[in-house]
Amino acid sequence: MTTTATDLARADWLLAPGLAPNAADAVLAPLYAGAARGELVLPSCGACGLALELEQRACDRCDSADVVWAAVAPTGEVHSATTVHRRERGLVLATEPYPVVDVELASGHRLVMTTLAPRASAPAIGEAVRIGFRSVGGVAVPAAELAAAEIRPVHPSDTEVTP
Ligand SMILES: [Zn+2]
Repeated sequence: MTTTATDLARADWLLAPGLAPNAADAVLAPLYAGAARGELVLPSCGACGLALELEQRACDRCDSADVVWAAVAPTGEVHSATTVHRRERGLVLATEPYPVVDVELASGHRLVMTTLAPRASAPAIGEAVRIGFRSVGGVAVPAAELAAAEIRPVHPSDTEVTP
């Protein structure tokens, strides 16, 4: 599955458009600009190359404050995962539990995200992940595409709950 302009215009499976992140965020703008191009852009230390957390201001290894954002390989594996049970009408569109995955990327970065498509259960630790992009209100955000995708039916009539 590749991200196209049509995908970006499509409604997200999880969040209402009003929850779109600010693509012009002072710190995270490079991430969103990269995502809009289909690239995973993350920060590393400009002095020693260590992978940094998204909002990290100084390197843990060499103390440099030189943060460089660059595209990294969009591949990794599941480091940890959990299943979220949350119902927040009007904001969270999913009516079934959904996974949140902490992905360990080949670049050394760690990134927490949900899955590209709805999925009933958390993936296995160590499962291979390719990073794709969801679109929330037209803003592309990273999402885990799992090799062993377990796609949930769009209208699970047998599990529908009357409020
Ligand atoms: Zn460093």
